Amino acid sequence: MGTIDVLFFLIFFLFPIIFASEECQISMCDNKSIPIRFPFQLEGQNLQNCGYPGFDLTCNSQNLTVLKLPFSGEFFVRQISYITQEILLYDPFKCLPRRLLSFNLSGSPFVSAFYQNFTFLMCPSSLTKSRYTSIDCLSNSTHSALATSSMSLATSMSASCEVISTLQVPVSRPVRYDEGFSSALNNDLHLTWYEPDCSICEAQGGLCGFKSNISQDIGCFYFPGKDGSNDGLKLFRIICFSIAVPAITCAVGIACFACFVDRTNHLNARRSTTAVAAAPEGPEPAIVMMGLDETTIESYQKLVLGESRRLPGPNDITCPICLSEYCSKETLRCIPDCKHCFHAECIDEWLRLNGTCPVCRNNPSPSPARVSLDSV
Ligand SMILES: [Zn+2]
Ligand SMILES: [Zn+2]
Repeated sequence: MGTIDVLFFLIFFLFPIIFASEECQISMCDNKSIPIRFPFQLEGQNLQNCGYPGFDLTCNSQNLTVLKLPFSGEFFVRQISYITQEILLYDPFKCLPRRLLSFNLSGSPFVSAFYQNFTFLMCPSSLTKSRYTSIDCLSNSTHSALATSSMSLATSMSASCEVISTLQVPVSRPVRYDEGFSSALNNDLHLTWYEPDCSICEAQGGLCGFKSNISQDIGCFYFPGKDGSNDGLKLFRIICFSIAVPAITCAVGIACFACFVDRTNHLNARRSTTAVAAAPEGPEPAIVMMGLDETTIESYQKLVLGESRRLPGPNDITCPICLSEYCSKETLRCIPDCKHCFHAECIDEWLRLNGTCPVCRNNPSPSPARVSLDSV
């Protein structure tokens, strides 16, 4: 079989995979909201096989992104991290403790990383006044609602207060010393999902999706943003990958991923400006990773967050990579074209490995590696 035959075989074999991934667009409720892509899908878009069951989202009349849980109703989506497979939700009526009193994740693909027992109490306002943090949205004119994870505190209060309920509450991380009454329940609801597992694919800058309209198998696709290059180039890249030596690329891929997920080791992270391709396990390893060079990364605007923690552009108060809330005086870096901002250390790490914005997957600017490939 000659070279041409091999190319024809690869074109016919690979084209359906590329086609399937391109059918599924990244959608948003409006241009300031969260990009929605696999495994999530905007309901009613009539795109075939672009979302995983249980991951349907809707847009409300204010263009906010809404997730409906089968047994717990609607929540607004604050942020999705496709890399860490986490979603931050909040109550449309700003009273998460009320929602937690009857919270049930059955029938949904989401779970909480941690649960903690909380006792909810109703105490006479005269008793609690200025002594404890009460849950205002559950309180009335005569009684204040309190919640605590401390059994001893709950027991000591139960003489003068009515215990509403003691139940397991999903928390982002367990409260260790709940001396007073916790106001932590007012934070966002922090959930995760394990199936489908696209974290390796996402961390390598790929896009996850079903391999075809009829398949339930998950694949990983390299997809260079909306302003991306033509199909021929994509095909070229995938063919290049397909004929690369798997053993070497696998080893490099594992090393890169390990570096990326370990934020504490970020200073030692591998600086990658060359094309690297691999996926050790999980989704189809059709990824070409192309990072930006240090000069390009440094040229992107940095800003130090002020006391007000007000961010420019389409940004929320959480970093879309690590999902931690920004603190004042933290250094952020924003991508010039799409204006998405991140912790500087989070995005620098990412951009060394990937040439696209982790949120919208647009190419911020061509990297030297990409320019050389484009000119082939
Ligand atoms: Zn971060
Ligand atoms: Zn972006």
